[in-house]
Amino acid sequence: MPIDLINSFKNPEHIKALSLQIKKEAKRRINIMEICGGHTHAIMKYGLTQLLPPQIEFVHGPGCPVCIMPKERIDEAIEIARQPNIILVTLGDMIRVPGSKTSLQDLRAEGYDIRALYSPLDTLKIANENPDKTVVFFAVGFETTTPMSAVLVEKVVKERIKNILFHINHVLVPPPIHTIMQEGADIDAFLGPSHVSVITGYNIFTPIVEKYKTPIVVSGFEPSDVMESVLRITREFNEGRCEVENEYSRVVAKEGNVKAQKLIEKYFEVRESFRWRGLGDIPKSALKLKDEFAKLDAEIVFASKLSKKPIDDHKFCICADILKGRAKPFECKIFAKACNPKTPVGSCMVSSEGACAAYFKYGKFLRN
Ligand code: SF4
Repeated sequence: MPIDLINSFKNPEHIKALSLQIKKEAKRRINIMEICGGHTHAIMKYGLTQLLPPQIEFVHGPGCPVCIMPKERIDEAIEIARQPNIILVTLGDMIRVPGSKTSLQDLRAEGYDIRALYSPLDTLKIANENPDKTVVFFAVGFETTTPMSAVLVEKVVKERIKNILFHINHVLVPPPIHTIMQEGADIDAFLGPSHVSVITGYNIFTPIVEKYKTPIVVSGFEPSDVMESVLRITREFNEGRCEVENEYSRVVAKEGNVKAQKLIEKYFEVRESFRWRGLGDIPKSALKLKDEFAKLDAEIVFASKLSKKPIDDHKFCICADILKGRAKPFECKIFAKACNPKTPVGSCMVSSEGACAAYFKYGKFLRN
């Protein structure tokens, strides 16, 4: 995208005009859950809450893939990494998230071979350079990152690569939203995740809008995107409408990326259930490799080594309530004290998309 166009989405005059318009038109209290952690960071980074009238409130949602990963899944990655001749690879922040006793980062310091990737396809090079080892890709992420994992699976299958396995933790956006709403959350509308929608299309949100009567506006990440989306939500309420809207039309289409969807369907199927950190077991909320690719599935290959026992979070950590939009990071007793980015206690502080990390980094812009 041309740099001039990107800058136009940060134009202070445009953002100010949107702020004035929202203040003029907002007639009722609207609790807006931003589903995606990327939006949480944009809101905090640009101090957008300060530009909104008091009746517009943002609450944070479950759309940070690192934050929602339960400890037992991290323990599984740790246990696999401890097996002989294993190189465990994963993306970004996952390495720092604490499991029940340690993290992948700490395990690496003990000498185990654990590597952070920039792209899942880097796994191919590592496997090629280490033919006597098995490389296990600990795959995380929402619908956004699943296509890259599917591309990697396809390469492994087609090129008959023998030393790559997969531990699949890909999760889906709509099921936890249903769970949160069915628990009676005080949410009037949603900012829809944009990167997820690039893959899925924005049509996947229609059942949520129809069932809970909550408008959803799929929004870009620039400050003017978020402000424009809030204005659209405000207008839906004023005009008695309840719809899915697509503010991010420069990137997102109604049907999404059909080619990517087909590739995902070729290799993955929906799990019966998956346990989310803070949200518990949610039916049909995650993916796994299809049975015909069981030989590539690290969960099956190492089944005898893995305990599937659920593990609770630290007793002071309120990530569960934060991920459901019921609490803000400031309400945690150990926020910015025992829990901080250098010594994170919970996943919401570890992840670069986590709400606690956003409040720690940009808290000075908060409206109290
Ligand atoms: S500040 Fe730390 S311990 Fe508290 S909720 Fe956030 S991640 Fe959990």
